[in-house]
Amino acid sequence: MTFPPLREDLVGLAPYGAPQLDVPVQLNVNENPYPPSPEVVADIAASVAAVAGSLNRYPDREFGELRAALADYLNRDGGVGITPRQVWAANGSNEVMLHLLQAFGGPGRTAVSFAPTYSMYPEYARDTTTRWVEGRRESDFSLDLDRARELVERERPTVVLLPSPNNPTGTALPLDAVSALCEAAGDGLVVVDEAYAEFRRSGTPSALELLPSTRNLVVSRTMSKAFAFAGARLGYLAAAPEICDAVRVVRLPYHLSAVTQAAALAALRHADELLARVQELRSERDATAAWLAAQGLEVAQSDANFVLFGRYSDRHAVWQGLLDHGVLIREVGPSGWLRVSIGTAEEMGAFRHALTALGTPVRLEEE
Ligand SMILES: *Cc1c(COP(=O)(O)O)cnc(C)c1O
Repeated sequence: MTFPPLREDLVGLAPYGAPQLDVPVQLNVNENPYPPSPEVVADIAASVAAVAGSLNRYPDREFGELRAALADYLNRDGGVGITPRQVWAANGSNEVMLHLLQAFGGPGRTAVSFAPTYSMYPEYARDTTTRWVEGRRESDFSLDLDRARELVERERPTVVLLPSPNNPTGTALPLDAVSALCEAAGDGLVVVDEAYAEFRRSGTPSALELLPSTRNLVVSRTMSKAFAFAGARLGYLAAAPEICDAVRVVRLPYHLSAVTQAAALAALRHADELLARVQELRSERDATAAWLAAQGLEVAQSDANFVLFGRYSDRHAVWQGLLDHGVLIREVGPSGWLRVSIGTAEEMGAFRHALTALGTPVRLEEE
């Protein structure tokens, strides 16, 4: 054995994460570009100050007030009668989904998703020693429902991870597909990762609508993206109370600090204001997609706050060329494609300007 005695399957692996570079225009990790207003900052600061005097005590382990506030919020965005007992939260939805794999995955069990998709999913499986099976999406990044159902029926996963909208492609999943896969999964859980739900186009529903009628459905959300709260680390899910109770078994005690709970409660009191810019970002997304298509590029349909475009024969050269102009985007997804997060109108102007300045890099022919 070598030192340190790292698990053999982890030897040589790099930690997940996009480059954190200090450049003027950062469009690489799907953050909301608008910082909280001075009023929101003041309320968060006062709320944190109010708990600071009792930081010698552990926080409310069950975070009842926060669960109630999250349930209220969900019932205003597609949820129907969601109660606090149907809500679970953790330090980002990444931790929420790790909790799900800890509770429902493990040795001898299988988790399934459909690639190209979020590259953290196989890491939750790896870290919990859950067998990982990956189906494929179609060339337009949608799911072929018959093939997806067949895979789920054959592999019998205890957890199916279905992001909608998907990252990095932006593809939303129709509700009939969610229903069909929940049925195919039997007693297995279907987790619809709605990290980008608030950015969905009008007419695209949330899987929250299906919760009352679907006992094995879990809908995961986060305050990191639309809510402009990535730095605070708060993700959550809605599911049947027995699912939330099961997850409580694997969480670390007091995993949500009193500071996090106070800050999240303050932010939720200002939900309307924090979400006010979502409409602008959706329009900017549609304008960016249209502009990219007008440049003769391939563009994936997006319901999220980013757009996947390409396909370049040397995408790294395009990524580097943009970076040289002070614009950081993400080299991610299927080969030849690049992903740009939607920033302010000014930042998107800088992106368009930089991409134009690169001239016409060699593109791959349509398949
Ligand atoms: C950003 C993202 C998340 C959320 O991450 P947090 O841990 O809540 O910040 C979850 N799922 C997908 C697909 C994402 O892109």
